[in-house]
Amino acid sequence: MTPKNVLVVGGVGYIGSHVARLLLRTGHRVSVLDDLSSCDPRNLQVLSSLAGADFQFCRCDIRDEKKVQGFVEMARPEIIFHIAGLKDASESFQDAARYHAVNVGGTENLVESADRIGVERFVFSSSAAVYGATGLAPITECHPTVPISPYGETKLLGESLVKAWAKQAPSDRRAIIMRYFNPCCRHPDFVYPKAFPKLGSANLADAILGVVAGDQPQLTIFGNAHPTPDGTCQRDFVHIEDIAQAHIAAIHKPANALETVEILNIGSGATRSVLEFITEFERISGVAIPCSWGPMRVGDAATSVADVSHTQLCLDWRPSMNLSHICLGLVKHMELAQNTRPRKYTSQ
Ligand code: NAD
Repeated sequence: MTPKNVLVVGGVGYIGSHVARLLLRTGHRVSVLDDLSSCDPRNLQVLSSLAGADFQFCRCDIRDEKKVQGFVEMARPEIIFHIAGLKDASESFQDAARYHAVNVGGTENLVESADRIGVERFVFSSSAAVYGATGLAPITECHPTVPISPYGETKLLGESLVKAWAKQAPSDRRAIIMRYFNPCCRHPDFVYPKAFPKLGSANLADAILGVVAGDQPQLTIFGNAHPTPDGTCQRDFVHIEDIAQAHIAAIHKPANALETVEILNIGSGATRSVLEFITEFERISGVAIPCSWGPMRVGDAATSVADVSHTQLCLDWRPSMNLSHICLGLVKHMELAQNTRPRKYTSQ
């Protein structure tokens, strides 16, 4: 496979850094554009040392049309991965205008730049949030999109911009829209001593690590009366390395094997409840996670799980990690992040 010249927008963030790392590891040329507003800047050092002299980084807000255009014209990528953006659904209710400006306005600037230099493939990071809470499970890409937060709406609008870009020149361009479900874990390269992910995150895995670190006395589980077997929400937890692999697969697939626009669910395809996740983490780590019940959150779907059969066919990709792998990854994270053992850690 010929190495590609790839621009990763948002490449210093959680998902972007894993994608950029795997691109570098598989021999591609990578440039990164990011405003460093919501990431650990040490991720950039990791990428820069992996890449060596070839690495180009631009600190830039995707809302800055001129600067985005200048960097895209200089880097001249064949492929753009657009993984930057704001992602907190509850915050988006308070700050809808900023979510719109970044997630929609920023995407518009990127597709315009892609248009100018003849990018052949644009891969857009979307979200299961575009499906809303229809109650359908598992969710296929053909299911209705009825987002229930400004965040989900901005992702859907971003998708439309990317689709329109591809349809302007359907013989040359391919748009791949990836709707991620619940990403978990970090590669050891991105785990730093004594550093745990910020609390307050909606991400269950990170919240568990916060409790293990003693930053939070207990884990709040939102709702115990959902229409699920154990009353807690059911989700599709997918390992970050599987997500990164899906991006590599998206590069390898020849254009003639792709539709002009491909919409792909990126999940594990497995339904696991919040309680099952906690129990599995406790089993594997030997750490008891004290929990308390909180109220159900408005708009939380009882079950959100991906049907990934179309993605498997389209990309020749399979999710390879299950919940046990994810929990093992979290235990590894605990051990790497702490010079001393966490206060509740009792190794088995
Ligand atoms: P993240 O916050 O870790 O990374 C986002 C990156 O974008 C950061 O490096 C940040 O500095 C950068 N960024 C933010 N605003 C920017 C701007 N205006 N200009 C330039 N750079 C900017 O988020 P993530 O978890 O890596 O998520 C990446 C994408 O995946 C998001 O678009 C999100 O909607 C989508 N997504 C994430 C999840 C998840 O649970 N992590 C789930 C579904 C979809």
